[in-house]
Amino acid sequence: MKFYSTNHIAQPVSFEGALFSGLAEDGGLYMPGSFGAPLSFSYYRDSIEATAILLKRFTGIPKSDLLSIVRAAFDFPVPLVQLDRHLFVLELFHGPTLSFKDFGARFMARCFQYYLMKRKRSVTIVVATSGDTGSAVAAAFYRVPRVRVVVLYPFGRVSALQEKQMTTFGHNIHAIAVRGDFDDCQRLAKRALADLSLSNMSSANSINIGRLLPQMYYYFFGYMQLMHDFSGIGTPLFVVPSGNFGNVAAGLFARRLGLPVTHMLAAVNRNSVVPKYLAAGTFRAAKTRMTLSSAMDVGNPSNWARIMDLYGLSRAAIARDLSAATISESMTKKTIARIRAQYGYIVDPHTAVGLAAAMQSEFRGAKIVLATAHPAKFISTVPIPCRLRSVLHKREHKITIDAHYAALRDLCI
Ligand SMILES: *Cc1c(COP(=O)(O)O)cnc(C)c1O
Repeated sequence: MKFYSTNHIAQPVSFEGALFSGLAEDGGLYMPGSFGAPLSFSYYRDSIEATAILLKRFTGIPKSDLLSIVRAAFDFPVPLVQLDRHLFVLELFHGPTLSFKDFGARFMARCFQYYLMKRKRSVTIVVATSGDTGSAVAAAFYRVPRVRVVVLYPFGRVSALQEKQMTTFGHNIHAIAVRGDFDDCQRLAKRALADLSLSNMSSANSINIGRLLPQMYYYFFGYMQLMHDFSGIGTPLFVVPSGNFGNVAAGLFARRLGLPVTHMLAAVNRNSVVPKYLAAGTFRAAKTRMTLSSAMDVGNPSNWARIMDLYGLSRAAIARDLSAATISESMTKKTIARIRAQYGYIVDPHTAVGLAAAMQSEFRGAKIVLATAHPAKFISTVPIPCRLRSVLHKREHKITIDAHYAALRDLCI
Protein backbone atom coordinates (compact mmCIF):
# COMPACT_ATOMS: atom_id res chain seq x y z
CA MET A 1 0.00 0.00 0.00
CA LYS A 2 1.13 3.55 -0.74
CA PHE A 3 0.79 6.52 1.59
CA TYR A 4 -0.14 9.89 0.14
CA SER A 5 0.48 13.37 1.53
CA THR A 6 -2.43 15.41 2.90
CA ASN A 7 -1.08 18.25 0.72
CA HIS A 8 -1.41 16.02 -2.36
CA ILE A 9 1.76 17.33 -4.06
CA ALA A 10 4.51 14.90 -2.98
CA GLN A 11 4.61 11.46 -4.65
CA PRO A 12 3.00 8.62 -2.67
CA VAL A 13 5.49 6.40 -0.81
CA SER A 14 5.61 2.95 0.80
CA PHE A 15 5.17 2.47 4.55
CA GLU A 16 8.95 2.23 4.85
CA GLY A 17 9.32 5.56 3.01
CA ALA A 18 6.71 7.25 5.20
CA LEU A 19 8.28 5.81 8.37
CA PHE A 20 11.76 7.09 7.57
CA SER A 21 10.75 10.53 6.29
CA GLY A 22 8.09 11.35 8.92
CA LEU A 23 6.71 14.41 7.15
CA ALA A 24 6.11 14.42 3.37
CA GLU A 25 8.33 16.68 1.25
CA ASP A 26 5.43 19.06 0.61
CA GLY A 27 4.94 19.49 4.38
CA GLY A 28 1.85 17.27 4.45
CA LEU A 29 1.16 14.26 6.66
CA TYR A 30 1.09 10.75 5.24
CA MET A 31 -2.26 8.96 4.97
CA PRO A 32 -2.97 5.34 3.99
CA GLY A 33 -4.05 5.08 0.35
CA SER A 34 -7.01 2.88 1.35
CA PHE A 35 -8.42 1.14 4.40
CA GLY A 36 -9.70 -2.03 2.74
CA ALA A 37 -12.67 -4.10 3.83
CA PRO A 38 -13.77 -3.72 7.47
CA LEU A 39 -12.64 -6.50 9.77
CA SER A 40 -15.23 -8.49 11.70
CA PHE A 41 -14.10 -7.89 15.24
CA SER A 42 -16.50 -10.36 16.82
CA TYR A 43 -14.52 -13.08 15.04
CA TYR A 44 -11.20 -12.34 16.78
CA ARG A 45 -10.47 -13.37 20.36
CA ASP A 46 -7.04 -11.80 20.46
CA SER A 47 -6.52 -8.09 19.83
CA ILE A 48 -2.80 -8.63 19.14
CA GLU A 49 -3.74 -10.88 16.22
CA ALA A 50 -6.39 -8.47 14.90
CA THR A 51 -3.84 -5.63 15.11
CA ALA A 52 -1.18 -7.62 13.26
CA ILE A 53 -3.66 -8.54 10.49
CA LEU A 54 -4.63 -4.90 10.02
CA LEU A 55 -1.08 -3.56 10.21
CA LYS A 56 -0.07 -6.06 7.53
CA ARG A 57 -2.45 -4.28 5.13
CA PHE A 58 -0.72 -0.97 5.74
CA THR A 59 2.92 -1.94 6.18
CA GLY A 60 3.35 -4.94 3.91
CA ILE A 61 5.51 -6.54 6.65
CA PRO A 62 4.74 -10.31 6.73
CA LYS A 63 2.21 -11.37 9.38
CA SER A 64 4.64 -13.58 11.34
CA ASP A 65 7.14 -10.70 11.66
CA LEU A 66 4.35 -8.30 12.61
CA LEU A 67 3.04 -10.66 15.26
CA SER A 68 6.43 -10.76 16.95
CA ILE A 69 6.86 -6.98 16.61
CA VAL A 70 3.42 -6.26 18.09
CA ARG A 71 3.79 -8.88 20.87
CA ALA A 72 7.16 -7.47 21.92
CA ALA A 73 6.02 -3.84 21.66
CA PHE A 74 2.80 -4.34 23.66
CA ASP A 75 4.06 -6.66 26.39
CA PHE A 76 2.46 -4.73 29.27
CA PRO A 77 -1.13 -4.86 30.60
CA VAL A 78 -3.95 -2.55 29.38
CA PRO A 79 -6.65 -2.94 32.05
CA LEU A 80 -10.22 -1.74 31.54
CA VAL A 81 -11.36 -0.43 34.93
CA GLN A 82 -15.04 0.04 35.70
CA LEU A 83 -15.77 3.12 37.81
CA ASP A 84 -19.53 3.16 37.45
CA ARG A 85 -22.14 1.09 35.63
CA HIS A 86 -21.47 2.84 32.32
CA LEU A 87 -18.16 4.58 33.05
CA PHE A 88 -14.87 2.86 32.25
CA VAL A 89 -11.22 3.87 32.19
CA LEU A 90 -8.80 2.15 29.83
CA GLU A 91 -5.38 2.43 31.51
CA LEU A 92 -2.80 3.08 28.79
CA PHE A 93 -0.01 4.00 31.21
CA HIS A 94 1.54 0.67 32.19
CA GLY A 95 4.37 0.88 29.67
CA PRO A 96 7.98 1.63 30.63
CA THR A 97 7.63 5.45 30.68
CA LEU A 98 4.11 5.67 32.14
CA SER A 99 2.28 7.34 29.25
CA PHE A 100 0.36 6.04 26.24
CA LYS A 101 3.19 7.34 24.03
CA ASP A 102 4.95 4.02 24.76
CA PHE A 103 2.58 2.24 22.32
CA GLY A 104 3.54 4.29 19.28
CA ALA A 105 7.22 4.63 20.18
CA ARG A 106 7.77 0.93 20.90
CA PHE A 107 6.10 -0.24 17.70
CA MET A 108 7.93 2.37 15.65
CA ALA A 109 11.32 1.42 17.13
CA ARG A 110 10.82 -2.19 16.11
CA CYS A 111 9.79 -1.19 12.57
CA PHE A 112 12.94 0.92 12.21
CA GLN A 113 14.99 -2.03 13.47
CA TYR A 114 13.26 -4.38 11.01
CA TYR A 115 14.09 -2.22 7.97
CA LEU A 116 17.59 -1.18 9.13
CA MET A 117 18.59 -4.85 9.50
CA LYS A 118 17.21 -5.64 6.07
CA ARG A 119 18.92 -2.69 4.37
CA LYS A 120 22.10 -2.85 6.47
CA ARG A 121 22.03 0.88 7.10
CA SER A 122 21.97 3.12 10.14
CA VAL A 123 20.04 6.20 11.16
CA THR A 124 20.11 9.21 13.49
CA ILE A 125 16.69 10.01 14.92
CA VAL A 126 16.09 13.56 16.15
CA VAL A 127 13.19 14.26 18.44
CA ALA A 128 12.11 17.48 20.14
CA THR A 129 10.13 17.02 23.32
CA SER A 130 8.41 18.84 26.13
CA GLY A 131 8.67 15.65 28.22
CA ASP A 132 6.60 12.55 27.51
CA THR A 133 7.62 11.94 23.89
CA GLY A 134 11.34 12.16 24.62
CA SER A 135 11.29 9.56 27.35
CA ALA A 136 9.06 7.17 25.38
CA VAL A 137 11.25 7.44 22.28
CA ALA A 138 14.50 7.14 24.26
CA ALA A 139 13.26 4.06 26.12
CA ALA A 140 11.95 2.45 22.93
CA PHE A 141 15.17 2.92 20.94
CA TYR A 142 17.63 2.22 23.77
CA ARG A 143 20.29 -0.21 22.51
CA VAL A 144 18.50 -0.74 19.18
CA PRO A 145 21.38 -1.52 16.79
CA ARG A 146 22.14 0.96 13.97
CA VAL A 147 20.11 3.72 15.66
CA ARG A 148 21.39 6.86 17.35
CA VAL A 149 18.78 9.04 19.07
CA VAL A 150 19.19 12.76 19.73
CA VAL A 151 16.58 14.07 22.19
CA LEU A 152 16.22 17.85 22.45
CA TYR A 153 14.39 19.18 25.49
CA PRO A 154 14.06 22.68 26.97
CA PHE A 155 16.59 23.23 29.79
CA GLY A 156 14.89 23.62 33.17
CA ARG A 157 11.40 23.14 31.75
CA VAL A 158 10.78 19.43 32.20
CA SER A 159 10.07 17.68 35.51
CA ALA A 160 12.93 16.03 37.43
CA LEU A 161 11.53 12.57 36.72
CA GLN A 162 11.09 13.32 33.02
CA GLU A 163 14.69 14.57 32.80
CA LYS A 164 15.99 11.47 34.56
CA GLN A 165 13.98 9.28 32.17
CA MET A 166 15.72 10.88 29.17
CA THR A 167 19.25 11.39 30.46
CA THR A 168 20.10 8.19 32.33
CA PHE A 169 20.21 5.83 29.34
CA GLY A 170 23.51 6.80 27.75
CA HIS A 171 24.76 4.32 25.11
CA ASN A 172 22.95 5.29 21.84
CA ILE A 173 20.69 7.89 23.49
CA HIS A 174 22.02 11.46 23.41
CA ALA A 175 20.06 13.83 25.62
CA ILE A 176 20.53 17.51 24.85
CA ALA A 177 19.21 20.27 27.10
CA VAL A 178 18.60 23.36 24.99
CA ARG A 179 18.77 26.80 26.63
CA GLY A 180 15.39 27.85 25.27
CA ASP A 181 11.80 26.65 25.11
CA PHE A 182 10.07 23.75 23.36
CA ASP A 183 9.63 25.78 20.17
CA ASP A 184 13.40 26.33 20.02
CA CYS A 185 13.91 22.56 20.33
CA GLN A 186 11.41 21.92 17.54
CA ARG A 187 13.02 24.53 15.30
CA LEU A 188 16.48 22.98 15.79
CA ALA A 189 15.15 19.47 15.12
CA LYS A 190 13.45 20.61 11.90
CA ARG A 191 16.61 22.35 10.74
CA ALA A 192 18.68 19.19 11.33
CA LEU A 193 16.17 17.10 9.37
CA ALA A 194 16.27 19.53 6.45
CA ASP A 195 20.09 19.76 6.47
CA LEU A 196 21.22 17.86 3.39
CA SER A 197 24.82 17.76 4.60
CA LEU A 198 23.75 15.39 7.39
CA SER A 199 23.02 11.89 6.16
CA ASN A 200 20.53 9.29 7.38
CA MET A 201 18.52 11.64 9.55
CA SER A 202 15.01 10.70 10.59
CA SER A 203 12.36 11.91 12.99
CA ALA A 204 10.23 10.26 15.64
CA ASN A 205 7.72 12.98 16.38
CA SER A 206 4.02 12.45 16.65
CA ILE A 207 3.21 13.10 13.00
CA ASN A 208 5.02 9.90 11.99
CA ILE A 209 2.49 7.40 10.63
CA GLY A 210 4.58 4.65 12.27
CA ARG A 211 3.52 5.96 15.66
CA LEU A 212 -0.11 6.50 14.74
CA LEU A 213 -1.15 3.17 13.21
CA PRO A 214 -0.19 0.95 16.19
CA GLN A 215 -2.32 3.09 18.50
CA MET A 216 -5.38 1.39 17.01
CA TYR A 217 -4.42 -1.63 19.09
CA TYR A 218 -5.80 -0.39 22.40
CA TYR A 219 -9.10 0.65 20.88
CA PHE A 220 -9.54 -2.95 19.72
CA PHE A 221 -8.38 -4.26 23.08
CA GLY A 222 -10.66 -1.92 25.03
CA TYR A 223 -13.64 -2.91 22.91
CA MET A 224 -12.89 -6.62 23.17
CA GLN A 225 -12.53 -6.45 26.96
CA LEU A 226 -15.83 -4.60 27.23
CA MET A 227 -17.61 -7.21 25.09
CA HIS A 228 -16.02 -10.06 27.01
CA ASP A 229 -16.54 -8.80 30.57
CA PHE A 230 -19.72 -6.75 30.13
CA SER A 231 -21.54 -8.44 27.29
CA GLY A 232 -24.84 -6.78 26.41
CA ILE A 233 -23.66 -3.33 27.47
CA GLY A 234 -23.68 -2.17 23.84
CA THR A 235 -21.32 -0.28 21.55
CA PRO A 236 -19.16 2.20 23.47
CA LEU A 237 -18.37 5.89 23.20
CA PHE A 238 -14.60 6.50 23.38
CA VAL A 239 -13.47 9.65 25.22
CA VAL A 240 -9.96 10.82 24.34
CA PRO A 241 -7.89 13.49 26.16
CA SER A 242 -6.39 15.30 23.17
CA GLY A 243 -3.57 17.64 22.18
CA ASN A 244 -2.15 16.96 18.74
CA PHE A 245 -5.12 14.66 17.94
CA GLY A 246 -2.99 11.65 17.00
CA ASN A 247 -4.84 9.52 19.51
CA VAL A 248 -8.25 10.56 18.14
CA ALA A 249 -7.03 10.01 14.56
CA ALA A 250 -6.03 6.43 15.46
CA GLY A 251 -9.51 5.85 16.91
CA LEU A 252 -11.18 7.15 13.76
CA PHE A 253 -8.92 4.88 11.69
CA ALA A 254 -10.01 1.94 13.86
CA ARG A 255 -13.64 2.86 13.29
CA ARG A 256 -13.07 3.03 9.52
CA LEU A 257 -11.62 -0.48 9.78
CA GLY A 258 -14.81 -1.81 11.32
CA LEU A 259 -14.39 -1.35 15.07
CA PRO A 260 -17.90 -0.90 16.50
CA VAL A 261 -17.84 2.56 18.11
CA THR A 262 -20.95 4.63 18.71
CA HIS A 263 -19.12 7.94 18.65
CA MET A 264 -15.82 9.54 19.65
CA LEU A 265 -15.49 12.46 22.06
CA ALA A 266 -12.27 14.49 22.10
CA ALA A 267 -11.65 16.25 25.41
CA VAL A 268 -9.34 19.26 25.38
CA ASN A 269 -8.12 21.83 27.90
CA ARG A 270 -8.20 25.62 27.33
CA ASN A 271 -6.45 25.03 24.00
CA SER A 272 -9.79 24.62 22.28
CA VAL A 273 -9.19 25.06 18.54
CA VAL A 274 -11.06 21.88 17.61
CA PRO A 275 -14.26 22.40 19.67
CA LYS A 276 -14.43 25.91 18.19
CA TYR A 277 -14.01 24.53 14.68
CA LEU A 278 -16.73 21.91 15.17
CA ALA A 279 -19.09 24.55 16.57
CA ALA A 280 -18.37 27.44 14.20
CA GLY A 281 -16.70 25.99 11.14
CA THR A 282 -13.51 28.04 11.14
CA PHE A 283 -10.22 26.46 12.07
CA ARG A 284 -8.06 29.07 13.73
CA ALA A 285 -4.68 28.03 15.15
CA ALA A 286 -4.09 29.85 18.42
CA LYS A 287 -1.20 30.66 20.69
CA THR A 288 -0.54 27.75 23.05
CA ARG A 289 -1.85 28.28 26.58
CA MET A 290 -0.27 26.56 29.56
CA THR A 291 -2.46 24.26 31.66
CA LEU A 292 -2.30 21.47 34.24
CA SER A 293 -2.58 18.92 31.42
CA SER A 294 0.64 20.15 29.84
CA ALA A 295 1.05 17.34 27.29
CA MET A 296 -2.19 18.61 25.71
CA ASP A 297 -1.09 22.24 25.44
CA VAL A 298 -1.25 22.50 21.67
CA GLY A 299 -2.45 25.59 19.84
CA ASN A 300 -2.31 24.08 16.37
CA PRO A 301 -3.02 20.32 16.48
CA SER A 302 -0.86 18.75 13.78
CA ASN A 303 -2.96 15.63 13.21
CA TRP A 304 -6.10 17.61 12.46
CA ALA A 305 -5.01 17.64 8.79
CA ARG A 306 -5.34 13.83 8.79
CA ILE A 307 -8.85 13.94 10.25
CA MET A 308 -9.96 16.56 7.71
CA ASP A 309 -8.54 14.42 4.92
CA LEU A 310 -10.18 11.25 6.25
CA TYR A 311 -13.58 12.96 6.02
CA GLY A 312 -13.04 14.69 2.68
CA LEU A 313 -12.73 18.12 4.36
CA SER A 314 -16.39 17.98 5.42
CA ARG A 315 -17.13 19.33 8.87
CA ALA A 316 -20.60 17.75 8.83
CA ALA A 317 -19.09 14.34 8.10
CA ILE A 318 -16.54 14.72 10.91
CA ALA A 319 -19.26 15.80 13.33
CA ARG A 320 -21.24 12.61 12.71
CA ASP A 321 -18.36 10.58 14.23
CA LEU A 322 -16.60 13.05 16.51
CA SER A 323 -17.58 15.65 19.11
CA ALA A 324 -15.27 17.78 21.20
CA ALA A 325 -15.54 19.31 24.66
CA THR A 326 -13.46 22.00 26.37
CA ILE A 327 -12.66 21.47 30.05
CA SER A 328 -11.55 24.38 32.23
CA GLU A 329 -8.68 24.25 34.71
CA SER A 330 -11.04 24.47 37.70
CA MET A 331 -13.16 21.65 36.28
CA THR A 332 -10.03 19.50 35.86
CA LYS A 333 -9.08 20.00 39.50
CA LYS A 334 -12.66 19.38 40.65
CA THR A 335 -12.80 16.17 38.64
CA ILE A 336 -9.58 14.82 40.17
CA ALA A 337 -11.06 15.40 43.64
CA ARG A 338 -14.49 14.07 42.71
CA ILE A 339 -13.15 10.84 41.16
CA ARG A 340 -11.02 10.23 44.22
CA ALA A 341 -13.89 10.86 46.63
CA GLN A 342 -16.57 9.02 44.69
CA TYR A 343 -14.62 6.01 43.41
CA GLY A 344 -11.35 5.96 45.41
CA TYR A 345 -9.52 6.20 42.09
CA ILE A 346 -6.67 8.62 41.39
CA VAL A 347 -6.28 10.18 37.95
CA ASP A 348 -3.68 12.46 36.41
CA PRO A 349 -4.79 15.86 34.99
CA HIS A 350 -4.90 14.60 31.37
CA THR A 351 -7.19 11.69 32.18
CA ALA A 352 -9.23 14.04 34.38
CA VAL A 353 -9.98 16.22 31.33
CA GLY A 354 -11.34 13.09 29.63
CA LEU A 355 -13.38 12.04 32.65
CA ALA A 356 -14.88 15.51 33.02
CA ALA A 357 -16.01 15.42 29.39
CA ALA A 358 -17.41 11.90 29.81
CA MET A 359 -19.43 12.89 32.87
CA GLN A 360 -20.86 15.92 31.07
CA SER A 361 -21.84 13.86 28.05
CA GLU A 362 -25.47 12.90 27.67
CA PHE A 363 -24.66 9.57 26.04
CA ARG A 364 -26.42 6.79 27.97
CA GLY A 365 -24.34 3.75 26.98
CA ALA A 366 -20.85 2.59 27.93
CA LYS A 367 -18.21 5.32 27.94
CA ILE A 368 -14.55 4.34 27.80
CA VAL A 369 -12.18 7.13 28.83
CA LEU A 370 -8.57 6.65 27.69
CA ALA A 371 -6.22 7.17 30.66
CA THR A 372 -3.15 8.62 28.95
CA ALA A 373 -0.68 9.04 31.83
CA HIS A 374 0.08 7.41 35.19
CA PRO A 375 -0.98 9.68 38.08
CA ALA A 376 2.51 9.42 39.64
CA LYS A 377 3.89 11.32 36.69
CA PHE A 378 1.96 14.47 37.60
CA ILE A 379 0.67 14.16 41.16
CA SER A 380 3.52 14.27 43.66
CA THR A 381 1.68 12.41 46.41
CA VAL A 382 1.28 9.28 44.25
CA PRO A 383 4.23 6.90 44.60
CA ILE A 384 6.28 6.19 41.48
CA PRO A 385 6.04 2.51 40.47
CA CYS A 386 9.00 0.43 41.76
CA ARG A 387 10.47 -0.31 38.37
CA LEU A 388 10.94 3.41 37.72
CA ARG A 389 12.31 4.41 41.08
CA SER A 390 15.80 3.20 40.20
CA VAL A 391 16.24 5.89 37.51
CA LEU A 392 16.22 8.54 40.21
CA HIS A 393 19.62 7.31 41.37
CA LYS A 394 21.22 6.72 37.98
CA ARG A 395 23.89 8.98 36.54
CA GLU A 396 22.75 11.55 33.97
CA HIS A 397 24.42 11.80 30.58
CA LYS A 398 23.49 15.10 29.01
CA ILE A 399 24.94 17.98 27.06
CA THR A 400 23.65 21.53 27.41
CA ILE A 401 23.69 23.77 24.35
CA ASP A 402 22.52 27.24 23.37
CA ALA A 403 19.57 27.37 21.01
CA HIS A 404 21.83 27.79 17.95
CA TYR A 405 21.81 25.34 15.10
CA ALA A 406 25.62 25.18 14.82
CA ALA A 407 25.85 23.63 18.29
CA LEU A 408 23.41 20.86 17.34
CA ARG A 409 24.95 20.24 13.94
CA ASP A 410 28.36 19.51 15.48
CA LEU A 411 26.73 16.81 17.56
CA CYS A 412 24.88 15.19 14.64
CA ILE A 413 27.80 14.75 12.23
C1 LIG B 1 0.67 13.33 24.20
C2 LIG B 1 -0.31 13.23 25.29
C3 LIG B 1 -1.70 13.52 25.08
C4 LIG B 1 -2.22 14.04 23.76
O1 LIG B 1 -2.25 13.06 22.76
P1 LIG B 1 -2.48 13.48 21.24
O2 LIG B 1 -2.35 12.21 20.46
O3 LIG B 1 -1.37 14.45 20.91
O4 LIG B 1 -3.81 14.11 21.12
C5 LIG B 1 -2.58 13.33 26.13
N1 LIG B 1 -2.15 12.91 27.34
C6 LIG B 1 -0.85 12.63 27.59
C7 LIG B 1 -0.45 12.19 28.94
C8 LIG B 1 0.12 12.77 26.57
O5 LIG B 1 1.40 12.50 26.83
